[in-house]
Amino acid sequence: MAPQPDFQSVLSFEDARRVVEEQARQVNAQETEAVDLLAAAGRVLAEPVVADRDIPPFPRSTRDGYAVCSSDLSQLPTTLEVIGEIRAGENPNLLPSQVGSGQAVSIMTGAPVPQGADAVVMVEHTSRLGSRVEISKGVASGENIVPRGAEARQSGLLVDRGARLNAASMALAASAGKSRLEVYKRPRIAVLTTGDEIVAVEAAPGPTQIRNSNSYSLAAQILAAGGQPVLLPIAPDETEKLRQLIELGLQSDLLILTGGVSMGRYDLVEPVLGGLGAEFFFTGAKIQPGRPVVFGRIPFGNSGGTDVLWRSRVPAPHVPAPHLPKYFFGLPGNPVSTMVTFELFARPLVEALAGMSPRKLLFLHARLGSEVRVKAGLTRFLPAILSGELKNSQVDLVAWQGSGDIAATARANCYAVIPPDRDVIAAGEWVAVMMR
Ligand code: AMP
Ligand code: MG
Repeated sequence: MAPQPDFQSVLSFEDARRVVEEQARQVNAQETEAVDLLAAAGRVLAEPVVADRDIPPFPRSTRDGYAVCSSDLSQLPTTLEVIGEIRAGENPNLLPSQVGSGQAVSIMTGAPVPQGADAVVMVEHTSRLGSRVEISKGVASGENIVPRGAEARQSGLLVDRGARLNAASMALAASAGKSRLEVYKRPRIAVLTTGDEIVAVEAAPGPTQIRNSNSYSLAAQILAAGGQPVLLPIAPDETEKLRQLIELGLQSDLLILTGGVSMGRYDLVEPVLGGLGAEFFFTGAKIQPGRPVVFGRIPFGNSGGTDVLWRSRVPAPHVPAPHLPKYFFGLPGNPVSTMVTFELFARPLVEALAGMSPRKLLFLHARLGSEVRVKAGLTRFLPAILSGELKNSQVDLVAWQGSGDIAATARANCYAVIPPDRDVIAAGEWVAVMMR
């Protein structure tokens, strides 16, 4: 039996998640770079985006129609004199200076509403008679006009530092004239897969060997979380080689190991980390799949010392500040466990290192398609298919062979969450669903 670390702590899902969130809050992303706006989609803002002028910059008509004085429309129908036309982008010098009682201005969506007018009547409620217009429906003051500055004031915050740029924040940055943006550099996330039976994708596996799939699922998840995956060579279940590769991995911003964290004779990850002075925040979570998940850090100054491997063939160009504590996760090697535990626990750390502001894990809810029976005591994240439309969300577990079954997981589009205090959940009950 391999020596186990002195410290053993198996937390509930909620407690383990809380610990990770607490640590993630203490992480400060540092390095930034300027990129073109188009290249900033999906990146994390390292500067606040502020409005360089009021939005909208003028009272904006939201309809094609007629700008009027709403008080003229108390008796209907009524006829007004059309004194001009305003198109979107109109030269301000050509705008009618004032709309008075009894007058109207033909106006297009997106055009500035002239002074004196306080509402826009939709063209559908009007009929044009030469230089006059007959209006058949009244409007309240302010109707179909967005006042100047109503969406944002000049110098007001539009998108804060720490936001990941999505469609709406890209649009805001563009409307504030930010053709270049300061974003955080992607943190380097080392992936170290362990196991004597694991071989590289390019290798022809022997009859009892398994190709390394975890490094690739993790690479996809790391990219999705805003990190840059750095795949290390596969570590054998042998203390010295494993230690060297762990030290190499600690040169990155975060180290994610897979495999070697269960109770088997050759599960060496925890003892080797323990030997490097690691602090463990937890060494298990009451979840399925993924129970043996490990989270910890190597305190100040204990990383480094990888001269041998460093000089050999592994490129490691990025050497972060040596005094910072380095976080690591030991994820269980079963491929579905690796995926689930990354999503539940490693993702917040990657996001924090990527500069993102913390956010809670969000769940959807759907009705269970058929009864589920489990042993109580663990929070379960079971591969499932969410279906149905607006009003009929339904979630059905996929048949699987347990936490090694990547094929079943690939057929799924979500995880159904079964709480630890239940052993039977009836068809039709609402359950939480974690998207992925
Ligand atoms: P372990 O966590 O090391 O006990 O591994 C649990 C199971 O996951 C074993 O069946 C391993 O062969 C499998 N496994 C571990 N690492 C990987 C990997 N990188 N790719 C695919 N399967 C793996
Ligand atoms: Mg193993």
